[in-house]
Amino acid sequence: MADPSPEDLERLLELQATDHRIRKVQHTLDDLPEQRQLAEATERLAELGRQHEDLRVELERVTAEQRQLERETDVLIERRDAERVRLYDGSVTNARELKSVEAEVDATVRRIEEHEESMLEVMERLDELEQRSAELLAAADATRQQVAELEVALDESARDWLAELAELRVVRDRQAGEVAPELLQRYEQAAQRGGGTGIGKLEGNACTACRIEMSYADVGELFDGPPLTTCPQCRRLLVVSA
Ligand SMILES: [Zn+2]
Repeated sequence: MADPSPEDLERLLELQATDHRIRKVQHTLDDLPEQRQLAEATERLAELGRQHEDLRVELERVTAEQRQLERETDVLIERRDAERVRLYDGSVTNARELKSVEAEVDATVRRIEEHEESMLEVMERLDELEQRSAELLAAADATRQQVAELEVALDESARDWLAELAELRVVRDRQAGEVAPELLQRYEQAAQRGGGTGIGKLEGNACTACRIEMSYADVGELFDGPPLTTCPQCRRLLVVSA
């Protein structure tokens, strides 16, 4: 294969510059601050949802506890009233039995008071849970709003970069079309191996792709060789211009 002309080499280097720019724009797009903020806000929203779900389960549990206490208190009140009726309606005349009914009324009244105390505690706990639930819902609303705003901001921020990317791809297609197919293939393969950079140029005593300095003897050898060769350091294509 004949040595590529200086124009061919120039086109290849331009193509490499465009590919480099495309990679940078792509990287910028992947790494937009709005993208990170959006991911964070979305995660916060999910966490608030999980917290609210835990709270809902706890609210259900405490509400069930409240109902249970109400039912038990109703039963105790009925029993107390029935015992009081027995105490005063004259059906119990025996003094010992009366004393025992009295003791039962006292015991039932004490249990009712205990239940009422527990009920107060449960209602306080329900108040706390409902307040916390309202706070979580408000926080979730605010975060949802933030997510919506960030989505708009991300679209706006990405728009210019996406436009630039589209333009660069048009330029790339044109430049690639101007490079001899065989040369283009060598470049593409080298670029694939070289993390997107397929070609460098000898500048001073280093290749612009890897920037590893070479000995003067090596540089001298390169100058004695063809205008397009392989970098002895990074194995990418290397343009040695006279
Ligand atoms: Zn190199």
